[in-house]
Amino acid sequence: MTSQTQTKTTSNKVASYLMLIVLVVMALSIVALFLAFDTFLFGGEDNQLAALILAGLGIIALITAVFLLYQSRKQAAEIKIEAPKVMTTIECQNKGCGNKTMREFQRGDYVFKDFDTACPKCGGRQIITAAYKEIKEKEKTYAI
Ligand SMILES: [Zn+2]
Repeated sequence: MTSQTQTKTTSNKVASYLMLIVLVVMALSIVALFLAFDTFLFGGEDNQLAALILAGLGIIALITAVFLLYQSRKQAAEIKIEAPKVMTTIECQNKGCGNKTMREFQRGDYVFKDFDTACPKCGGRQIITAAYKEIKEKEKTYAI
């Protein structure tokens, strides 16, 4: 549960960071367009070219921002589906019990690490015996 919330916060952080860049680019492009409009109307004959260049830059920046926003949303959706889960196996060290539990990998997990909580079956000492990436069946088959 905790690792799931952690992953969500991380992806949210990345998304909000990207959103900030997109918003800044959008704001700059709007300023550029406004300036271009202003220069075009009141800048006189000499500044017509500068106004056109400014307008062009503003439009390019705006398109880039919208494209980035669209791409990041698409990518975020793809990452969510494709991210493989890392699992941790915890085994009870009591020979008579051998209780095995699996849960999502959490930061600080390593093989042969003493597990803090006692075995739910017998109360014995538990250690982490494996940490591995869960591979979906789909990814194993290769079409030729
Ligand atoms: Zn046990």
